Amino acid sequence: MISIFDIFKIGIGPSSSHTVGPMRAARRFLADIGNLDDVMRVEAGLFGSLALTGRGHCTDRAVLLGLEGEEPDQVDPESIDAKLERIAGDRELHLLGGRPIRFDPETDLVFHYTDSLPQHPNGMRFRAMAEDGTVLAEQEFFSVGGGFVLRGDELGADVDSSATADVPFPFDSAAALLRHGEESGLRIDQLVWRNERTWRNDEEIGERLRLIQGVMHQCVHRGLHGSGTLPGKLAVPRRAPQLWADISAEATSLPVGILDRVNAYAFAVNEENAAGGRVVTAPTNGAAGIVPAVLEFYMDSVDKADEAGMFRFLLTAGAIAILYKKNASISGAEMGCQGEVGVACSMAAGGLTAAMGGSNAQVENAAEIGMEHNLGLTCDPVGGLVQIPCIERNAMGAVKAINATRMALRGDGHHKVSLDQVIATMRQTGRDMSSIYKETSQGGLAVNVIEC
Ligand code: SF4
Repeated sequence: MISIFDIFKIGIGPSSSHTVGPMRAARRFLADIGNLDDVMRVEAGLFGSLALTGRGHCTDRAVLLGLEGEEPDQVDPESIDAKLERIAGDRELHLLGGRPIRFDPETDLVFHYTDSLPQHPNGMRFRAMAEDGTVLAEQEFFSVGGGFVLRGDELGADVDSSATADVPFPFDSAAALLRHGEESGLRIDQLVWRNERTWRNDEEIGERLRLIQGVMHQCVHRGLHGSGTLPGKLAVPRRAPQLWADISAEATSLPVGILDRVNAYAFAVNEENAAGGRVVTAPTNGAAGIVPAVLEFYMDSVDKADEAGMFRFLLTAGAIAILYKKNASISGAEMGCQGEVGVACSMAAGGLTAAMGGSNAQVENAAEIGMEHNLGLTCDPVGGLVQIPCIERNAMGAVKAINATRMALRGDGHHKVSLDQVIATMRQTGRDMSSIYKETSQGGLAVNVIEC
């Protein structure tokens, strides 16, 4: 089993698969070598989707930071530009933050635009060499979505976490989760909490949930009070701050005013993500705005919202993400945007339903609705940047999740299409989807919108 804290990872924008994953892979490559005394040169190659949308997704920056020993959850976003300017200016890289070696990002970091590694669309190859060119170590890594990284020899296992273990309530399907619930009389969040006790005690679980919610909330707050345009050639202005200022000034009593708030929360997170700020992967960075926007909505707009409800929300949403990770994929490069925004919508719908007191069957129903109406959603980021359509799409996904919760809570949990069936459909749809719609910027809006 995977821990939900492998799903909710604190990192930096703009992409979990193209920024967080490559940073982790680069760092891990050098760390696995151990003694770096003889290493005088390092080469990094990016393949497939990592090459095609890597510049827009800051993959090149992430790899350099990883080789310098930075970790996504620890690096100070404010320090990144200066560090990268130093590497490019000095043409020197500090191996895991230690000894400097010659490194020219122009020649030692190679974008293989026309090649893919056969195992996965997000491939990387690292090589470490001695002074005389002797190869000391060579390794392929794959960024398989949501910041998860696998070495070539681990790919079949599809597990990169040290936090995998036997748990009291193992589940590979929503049906198994519901069965555990029926047999034990526990809610889904309670089952997940007991599983989490495999890795940490109750106090630590609570602390981690508070930390995740806190980072999400801070991200919303920073985004609502940001300014200027987002990085990249599209010069997209931030919309969250103005929208938030308008909402605050209007004080509308219209029920639809809640849509403005949820839109503003989602914009805020995704604009922070696009700017390379601190976000929580949920389940990816491109889709990182949906869970926080809906959780923020719960905390500030739902009667009797409290910390226990927040715990129910995150534990349940994490369980739903695990189902997608185990049975399909949360990678846009494999599934298109249904694997990112669709999964986040499903997570948020299930999480909100749990927070609002829904039964396990209603949670499963809400999560199913959240994905059913995102099936077939393609990934076509304009200019390779995680901005258009990603930012607005998160707002739409958040609103859709709230509606899915309303529909599920108005029913009794009985419904025709099961969550397991919709996950299988998403997987099949992703496999049938043309590769131009899977994080390559070779189709859809990416080729129909002029980048200016
Ligand atoms: S279109 Fe969707 S999957 Fe593609 S980068 Fe944007 S958020 Fe991620």
